[in-house]
Amino acid sequence: MSLIVAKFGGSSVASIEKIKNIAQRIKDMRDQGNNVAVVVSAMGDTTDDLIALAKATGGDLSGREMDMLLATGEQQSAALLALTLKNMGCDAVSLTGWQAGIMSDSTYNKAKISDIDTNRIMAELNNGKTVIIAGFQGISPGGDITTLGRGGSDTSAVAIAAGLKADRCLIFTDVEGVFTADPRIVPDARKLSSIAYEEMLEMAILGAAVMQPRAVECAMQNNIDVEVLCSFKNNPGTIITEVSNMEKQKVVSGVAHDYNCAKVAIFDVPDQPGIAKTLFKALAEGGINVDMVIQSAMRNNHNDIAFTIERDDLSKALPVVNELVKKIGASGCSFGDKVAKVSIVGAGMQTNPGVAADMFEALADEDINIHMISTSEIRVSCIIDEELTQKAVLALHKKFALSELE
Ligand code: ADP
Ligand code: ASP
Ligand code: MG
Repeated sequence: MSLIVAKFGGSSVASIEKIKNIAQRIKDMRDQGNNVAVVVSAMGDTTDDLIALAKATGGDLSGREMDMLLATGEQQSAALLALTLKNMGCDAVSLTGWQAGIMSDSTYNKAKISDIDTNRIMAELNNGKTVIIAGFQGISPGGDITTLGRGGSDTSAVAIAAGLKADRCLIFTDVEGVFTADPRIVPDARKLSSIAYEEMLEMAILGAAVMQPRAVECAMQNNIDVEVLCSFKNNPGTIITEVSNMEKQKVVSGVAHDYNCAKVAIFDVPDQPGIAKTLFKALAEGGINVDMVIQSAMRNNHNDIAFTIERDDLSKALPVVNELVKKIGASGCSFGDKVAKVSIVGAGMQTNPGVAADMFEALADEDINIHMISTSEIRVSCIIDEELTQKAVLALHKKFALSELE
């Protein structure tokens, strides 16, 4: 008997009709002789709706109560799915993260799974039940509910698959797999039959929402093959796996984009040791993640420093930066939230000079101005005007002939 961990995202459980549809899929897996542990997200836009409600209170959204609230979304869908399965004659039990033994640290809103006590899940499976686990949540050492960051049900599923030593880990979503770019933006994006962990991790970090980056990390650390596939169709999906023959990798395997991006620039920063430390330490202490950093060439013993952060963090960053401008004697600062990041990703890039130049050429041909650039061995990212994102993604997909590969 195989053990399958199957995760269904928000769009797959958005209505009772959709829940009935996935319940049938789960029942089919059971009828084929498998044990099934299911992880669910909240229905449709429930998490966004709960955040909007919390905002309306005017209270602090970063702490314990927020997680208490957000975790209810996944509990609702887990219970509804269990009710549906039982009604179809398939015995099922729904569990909260706590009941399922998902232990985490106590970083509310972005908690990390520390361990999984699989005893309860195993006992229910051994009792012949299909186990439905509320994704995106855990329990802190102090016994409080935590949530795992947006998209965190993916991480719940992969961690549970690792904890249970499952035979398969399936991530069901609203597209047929991982594509060479977001298929909602690029109509001729091509579904990849497989993708290496490293590439998927970069794609996810750079905005491909199809997998939470931490879920990919967890799969990589535990050497678990993850299949991404569509809830509404029966076609094979994409396997995220270790790819041993890196030489065979394509130069560029995907294009990603991210709107959750804002740019900050500080002007005339004195060119002295310790200034960057002061700046970025203050931001880190404010819980603000800095992504790209550019420091201009020195003139008159002064530099300009520009960096990007998540757009959601801009309101937190503003007071920190304004305070710093005064403290370090800079002449001023500017902020922009109408920017986006477009990136190309590919493990074959590290040995192929000229890939970055090709990217810049594709953007220039579309008259798209680049505000900032950053690179790693397997990616190149550019910050551009937000309104040009779709145009840029389409141009890059075409430039690297991504619809034609494989
Ligand atoms: P779920 O609710 O199932 O977790 P998400 O909305 O989080 O689904 O992730 C699926 C979405 O990811 C797709 O609808 C698609 O628009 C987006 N996406 C972005 N980049 C890609 C990509 N390269 N391949 C597939 N989907 C992508
Ligand atoms: N419901 C949560 C979210 O919207 C977790 C998830 O969907 O994975 O981010
Ligand atoms: Mg998701």
